[in-house]
Amino acid sequence: MPSVIIVGGGLAGLATAAALGGAGFDVTLYEARGFLGGRATSFPLAPSEEDSVVIDNCQHVLLKCCVNLLDFYARLGVRERIQFSSEFHFIEPGGRVSLLRRGALPAPLHFTGSFLGLKFLSLADKLAIGRGLLAISQERQTRKDLDRISMLDWLREKRQTSGAIERFWRQVLVSAINEELDRMAAAHGFQVFWFAFLAAADSYQMGVPAVPLGELYADAAWRRFERVAIHLRTPVESVEASGCVRLAGGAARKADFTVLCLPPERLGAVAPELNVETAWVEYSPITGIHLWFDRPVTELPHATLLDRTIQWMYNKNEGRYLQLVISASRSLTNMSKGDVIALAVRELAEFFPAVASAKLERAHVIKELRATFSARPGAEELRPRAVTSAENVFLAGDWTRSGWPATMEGAVRSGYIAAEAVTRAAGNPASFLQPEA
Ligand SMILES: Cc1cc2nc3c(=O)[nH]c(=O)nc-3n(C[C@H](O)[C@H](O)[C@H](O)COP(=O)(O)OP(=O)(O)OC[C@H]3O[C@@H](n4cnc5c(N)ncnc54)[C@H](O)[C@@H]3O)c2cc1C
Repeated sequence: MPSVIIVGGGLAGLATAAALGGAGFDVTLYEARGFLGGRATSFPLAPSEEDSVVIDNCQHVLLKCCVNLLDFYARLGVRERIQFSSEFHFIEPGGRVSLLRRGALPAPLHFTGSFLGLKFLSLADKLAIGRGLLAISQERQTRKDLDRISMLDWLREKRQTSGAIERFWRQVLVSAINEELDRMAAAHGFQVFWFAFLAAADSYQMGVPAVPLGELYADAAWRRFERVAIHLRTPVESVEASGCVRLAGGAARKADFTVLCLPPERLGAVAPELNVETAWVEYSPITGIHLWFDRPVTELPHATLLDRTIQWMYNKNEGRYLQLVISASRSLTNMSKGDVIALAVRELAEFFPAVASAKLERAHVIKELRATFSARPGAEELRPRAVTSAENVFLAGDWTRSGWPATMEGAVRSGYIAAEAVTRAAGNPASFLQPEA
């Protein structure tokens, strides 16, 4: 069978390895760090302690419409470790909770009952949102400018109320796309609402891994792939247009095909001969805040928090260990970690009164300044495709043209697209992409 070298052990590289390894290719993957998963990973909080708590760099969630990511998890035999929840909790400052969940009606009307009951939206907001959702169904295949205008421009064109924009569209989309409404191409907002909320009744269900992210791609999962060899702590220094890979230390490696699954800021340095344009890439940050309290402060499994800086709360251990997430977190970039923690505890107490009397035992802040590329208007056509100027060298990564924004699903899709391109180049085309719902 043909051989392939994969550079980068994030989700894009791992998905390429699983697809081609499963198709019988001899796969060698080089990952610079000592663990797999790239930006979707976990690590011990105190590496020197034997029983250190292991945390995710940031809570990662998926929706049931992420069919390729779920297929990838199934290939690794870890699909069952994703727990799905069919209820979204929206909380207002003061603690009032509204639930969004499907009812008995078929899609796209499945949310009608619970949507009408959302307490944080006025009747005018709800009517505006109803009109907006209808317009998404009608315009998604007819309008040609959705990649060029911002989601906020589109919402204003549809005369959405400020309550609908701030408490509904913004609340859902900033976390899903990791970008503000005025910096996000409308096409991405359409995609989220179409696939997650309108196309099928269960697609909105939110999946949360029941184990630390790193366990999903642990050694045991790769034992199923006899032909996949993974080399950790093996940074690739350079890749030539011939596909020849030079490892740190100087050793050269060559296979029939090479797939580069690197973030844009690394690709230019590692493979300058490919001339892949990366200057267009701007980044959007995500901040994850981990808080450990001495007692339970909530019973909710997760919730989205309205009108404040913190956007999501995930209950990681009986209400004592909470993980908070802020997407497009530019306002926190220059704030000290101590101030971020103080802000988080202050805001949290507005939603969960028990926080005021609980003792914060431990806290940890992770600011990922290059969390994802900014999915701004005009960016889509600049994303590179899997094929490159070099015959047997291919690209994958959440920033390449996967058809999805920078997400785990986008990264896996890009890996499958690159794997399909490799099989075509090898003269034995295979398909790995899953049909969308
Ligand atoms: C804080 C945060 C929260 C997020 N939350 C979500 C979420 O809830 N849901 C969701 O779907 N997505 C989320 N994302 C996005 C998701 O994590 C990414 O889109 C996805 O993991 C990107 O995968 P990738 O393989 O394209 O890139 P990466 O994960 O960046 O992988 C690239 C890999 O290449 C390796 N590498 C770099 N240089 C070299 C070299 N020279 N040689 C060898 N290896 C090298 C790196 O170490 C890395 O492992 C989040 C991202 C962040 C940062």
